[in-house]
Amino acid sequence: MTGTIPFCDPIRCEAAGCVATVCKGAGLPSNEEVFQRSAKAIPGGVNSSIRAFKSVGGNPYIVSRAEGARVWDVEGNDLIDLVQSYGAIILGHAHPKVTEAIRAAAGDGTSYGAPTPREMKLAEAIGERVPSCERVRFMNSGTEATSTAVRLARGATGRKRIVTFNGNFHGATDALLAAGGSGLATLGLPGTAGVPEEAVANTWVVPYNVVPTLDDDVAAVFVEPVAANMGVVAPAKGFLEGLRAECDRVGALLVFDEVITGFRLGTGGAQAKFDVRPDLTCFGKVIGGGLPIGAVGGRRDVMENLTPLGSVFHAGTLAGNPLATAAGLAALNELNADVYMELLARARTLSALLRDACSSVGIRAQFPVVGTLVGMHFGDALTDAPTNFDEAKTTDEKLYARFFHALLSGGIAIAPGAYEALFVGLAHTDAIMNELADRVASALNGFTR
Ligand SMILES: *Cc1c(COP(=O)(O)O)cnc(C)c1O
Repeated sequence: MTGTIPFCDPIRCEAAGCVATVCKGAGLPSNEEVFQRSAKAIPGGVNSSIRAFKSVGGNPYIVSRAEGARVWDVEGNDLIDLVQSYGAIILGHAHPKVTEAIRAAAGDGTSYGAPTPREMKLAEAIGERVPSCERVRFMNSGTEATSTAVRLARGATGRKRIVTFNGNFHGATDALLAAGGSGLATLGLPGTAGVPEEAVANTWVVPYNVVPTLDDDVAAVFVEPVAANMGVVAPAKGFLEGLRAECDRVGALLVFDEVITGFRLGTGGAQAKFDVRPDLTCFGKVIGGGLPIGAVGGRRDVMENLTPLGSVFHAGTLAGNPLATAAGLAALNELNADVYMELLARARTLSALLRDACSSVGIRAQFPVVGTLVGMHFGDALTDAPTNFDEAKTTDEKLYARFFHALLSGGIAIAPGAYEALFVGLAHTDAIMNELADRVASALNGFTR
């Protein structure tokens, strides 16, 4: 990896008051040293498990700063970043409009314990762009959004059962951390240690892309309308419509988890793209412009079950935070139909360049594109893109790990896990895409199968 940090030019560095420890070659700590020191203070050295390189081997690069499409590690190497905070960043890192909005908000105080105009504006902005969101309530993460939606759906319907799809991910909330079995529908089994059977006893896990037959015990069906946590899997034709009809038949709520797809696939998210109106929608990631946020939006009559109007409790000291809502609003204001057209083209460019680079060195891989999202599937187990978790799991994880490390050594950051999406944004300009193509080609040069 090569590259310099413009920020760390010694003269500018002094002027900017920047800390010498992020300057290349100035007695810098290595990624490894920082990681080992972190690991003495933080379990596993990470605050989100995927960031550790457990499934690809090795230890993570430690980011000191980021701008546009690039991140710089503490050693001063630059990486073209296709992680983009797992999709939270869509305008590119440190976008001036977002940075300025945060700066202005911070000057007004960072949290009050009282309502503010900024949260009102972001709620209005979401409601205007996503018509199913007649009311919007904020919290601090996507996980909080889905866990609030579970409670709200149960409280609003007076029913207990939740239906989820195998391979969908809804954050780190107990009721939604049920593991699915292979193929068939399964009653919830805890998907992790620390979740008692009781916590998932009312969670039903069924295969993605098949409309389950529901009964009137079901409070809600939770679905990623485009699955983006098992690679990227498109909804089969009629799947989302079928869920809508089946929920209506038994009086269950349809909940779209648009934490990734919201404002990523387009202004109206997956629900606009596929023209299916959910009762509730969970948001996170893009709507915070890179700051911590989550939101539940939906039908007014359902949303009004939340306290203080209704009896389903929700609260949060930092919920509707002025910095997060300012950053989110600044991000949403930059996003329009033209931007999404560009992102669509870039997603296709990325997919094609990775496909060609892989095939030229004999790596069997697919890079399915669904809207602006790009997925990955390695090996020759499938001839077409995966349609459910059983198929997604046939990816060759060992081959992925080697591909990942080849790219990382060549100055390209992708997620350290075979089931994540690749993210392009406004900062992945034509110039960056050309540089990326060059880096990919040299990174894979000499790759042996
Ligand atoms: C990231 C994600 C979540 C969890 O959001 P956090 O902000 O990480 O808690 C929930 N659902 C989906 C679909 C996600 O991709």
